[in-house]
Amino acid sequence: MSDHPYRLMAPGPVPVSPEVSKALAQPMLHHRTPKFSEQLKRVFKKLQSAYQTAQPVFMLTSTGSGAMEAAVVNSISPDDQVLCVRSGKFGERWSDMAEAYGAQVTNIDVDWGQSVKVETVQKALEENEQIRVVFVQACETSTGALHPVQEISKLVKDRPNTLLAVDAITAIGCMELPMDEWGIDILVAGAQKAFMIPTGLGFISLSEKAWAFQKESKCPKYYWDLERERKAYEKGQTLFSSAVSQIAALDQSLDAFNDENRDGTRKRIETLGRATRKCLEIWGLSTFPEIPGSALTVIKVPDGIDGVKWRKDVEDQYNITIMGGQDHLKGKIVRIGHMGYITDRDLIETLNAVAFTYNTQAEQILPAPMIEFGLKETQKILNEAPLNG
Ligand SMILES: *Cc1c(COP(=O)(O)O)cnc(C)c1O
Repeated sequence: MSDHPYRLMAPGPVPVSPEVSKALAQPMLHHRTPKFSEQLKRVFKKLQSAYQTAQPVFMLTSTGSGAMEAAVVNSISPDDQVLCVRSGKFGERWSDMAEAYGAQVTNIDVDWGQSVKVETVQKALEENEQIRVVFVQACETSTGALHPVQEISKLVKDRPNTLLAVDAITAIGCMELPMDEWGIDILVAGAQKAFMIPTGLGFISLSEKAWAFQKESKCPKYYWDLERERKAYEKGQTLFSSAVSQIAALDQSLDAFNDENRDGTRKRIETLGRATRKCLEIWGLSTFPEIPGSALTVIKVPDGIDGVKWRKDVEDQYNITIMGGQDHLKGKIVRIGHMGYITDRDLIETLNAVAFTYNTQAEQILPAPMIEFGLKETQKILNEAPLNG
């Protein structure tokens, strides 16, 4: 076993800040006490700021996928036509969920690692006037690819009978994504990725246009009935028992996404990505996605390298968790996360481990000066956006 300190470098769950850990360790409050109500109302405000919306943002006590399901059941009725961009595991999830609730699903299948073309979405919409909702990821975490949601929102805006639902679980906070300004109708986020707290909360907000769809939607729902959730929200409550500790953690982490800090947080995430990609470039390794999001760097595993072993060696020998690929990408990609409380040292130790374990498999070993050079360049980039800077 390795005696290195544990480092969590996955694209979710992510390491949390000391302030978040402290908030999680506070004595339990009852969710109907004045003290908690005050905190809840503050967090509601902070969520609107993170989403850049005037609409209420709801917290659902589930993982991010629960908020995705809430998006589906509050926007469609069985037999409705929907359009899903399917470019990886999470695009598949939108499609499977819509199908589970009886929607007639048209999928736009995109090669994993590619970004959907705006023209393809436009054509699909023009061909079918009945499309009620377009479901897409802002960043498809299973491949690292970014989708052009701002352009897609322009296509949907002019169609009174169509909504745009965006899964921004690894996008909000990592890129500019102002919900109201871009005209996104349903925006979904999650706890353990961009919002940098432990797993267990999902987030969702609906535009005014989406609320009209919500009223008409005939999908069965009880726990995810957002009309009832809204009534609780208006009283400064959550519909069911509040996840008190998680909300205390959010009260801390969301400060990173207010008007004052949002740009700095995004820049830090982008910088970790840029530093990582600089290292890869120096080592002669490629990134997998055509247009990468900032939340993670996805390395294309070179021919002759066993990607499953590579990832596992990093964990077994260096006590660092990075992720591999799923389904047909198993062994073909390695994913390093940039969200969460990640220090320069965390990233550098990770890149070291990635290089050293690669060298045990590669015929052409990366020469040590090359590694050092890569790290020096990396540190230079990191200095441009220090943590807590
Ligand atoms: C992680 C992730 C999800 C699923 O979130 P869970 O919290 O695991 O349910 C959905 N979409 C994207 C883009 C993700 O990165």
